[in-house]
Amino acid sequence: MARYTGPDCRLCRREGAKLFLKGDRCYSASCAMNKRAVAPGQHGAARKKVTEYATQLREKQKAKRIYGVSEKQFHMYYVEADRRKGVTGENMLSLLERRLDNVVYRLGFGVSRSQARQLVNHAHITVNGKKVNIPSYIVKAGDVVAVKENKVNNTFFKQLKERKPNGIVPKWLEADMENLSGKVIALPLREDIGMDIREQLIVELYSK
Ligand code: SF4
Repeated sequence: MARYTGPDCRLCRREGAKLFLKGDRCYSASCAMNKRAVAPGQHGAARKKVTEYATQLREKQKAKRIYGVSEKQFHMYYVEADRRKGVTGENMLSLLERRLDNVVYRLGFGVSRSQARQLVNHAHITVNGKKVNIPSYIVKAGDVVAVKENKVNNTFFKQLKERKPNGIVPKWLEADMENLSGKVIALPLREDIGMDIREQLIVELYSK
């Protein structure tokens, strides 16, 4: 499936929720959800009967868009989560949270997940001292994620150190902004992820 290249805010309006796709703007008064929180399109504001399938589908689309993964990748996380012991929905969110691009974002090294993905793609990030340029890389407990030593003096990273971070570093991670590094203290539990995603609806959709 082709990658979505349209306006990010349109996706939030479609899902009726803030997906935090645009960094600082999402925390400001200019957020489109503060101005026009209706679905895009001519009939966006129209009342429609919402079926069970539509509710499940929207929840899946929301989670997929938050993490910025394709349909195929997202389905693979479900398959892997279902194969593992434990609650499938929670396993799936845990896997998505452990993606390297998400960890970079959560540590505050990028203002959005898409910017964090670019940092990984452009080989600015190391895991346990080794360069990793795969955004879908899954981190493990004990891993140390850092900005590559020869990049820390880039203007971008210098400015990053000075700015006040928007988000709060979740308790399964430990950030050291001075040295632009972070550690995975433990694997994320559902309560650590703290996002408004009803993962059970996604499991119901895929298990049909
Ligand atoms: Fe979504 Fe608001 Fe961020 Fe736009 S600015 S991506 S509407 S949260």
